Amino acid sequence: MAEEPQEDCLFCKIVAGDVPATVVHETDTTLAFRDINPQAPTHVLVIPKEHHPDAAAMAAASPQLAADVLRAAGEVAEKENIAPPGGATVGYRIVFNTGAGAGQTVWHAHAHVLGGRGLNWPPG
Ligand code: 5GP
Repeated sequence: MAEEPQEDCLFCKIVAGDVPATVVHETDTTLAFRDINPQAPTHVLVIPKEHHPDAAAMAAASPQLAADVLRAAGEVAEKENIAPPGGATVGYRIVFNTGAGAGQTVWHAHAHVLGGRGLNWPPG
């Protein structure tokens, strides 16, 4: 079920153009912009334009929208030249922090697309 934009949601405000962001990619249903506090040379957030509080809620409400976000994440990686093939140093990580204990701080579903440096496993 689609949710209405939330007045107090930072990412709904970015979708509306009320808060500025460096947009790197856009589709009918998604928006991708640079993280304000990057944790890697490439750190882009990919969000559904519709408000959903986290990735699981988005997928439950609309599997197509979840697929749109993942597809857009791959397109961002291509644009940022961090997508394989390209050798052992090329690759990226898609992260959905879900819940405060996992580091979620913005309650509008978003995929972090991280790359441009070696990424350790397991993550912290
Ligand atoms: P979370 O912690 O919820 O997984 O991710 C939220 C992300 O949003 C963080 O990486 C944080 O740096 C980023 N962020 C917070 N406020 C803003 C903002 O105003 N603009 C942008 N572009 N990113 C933001």
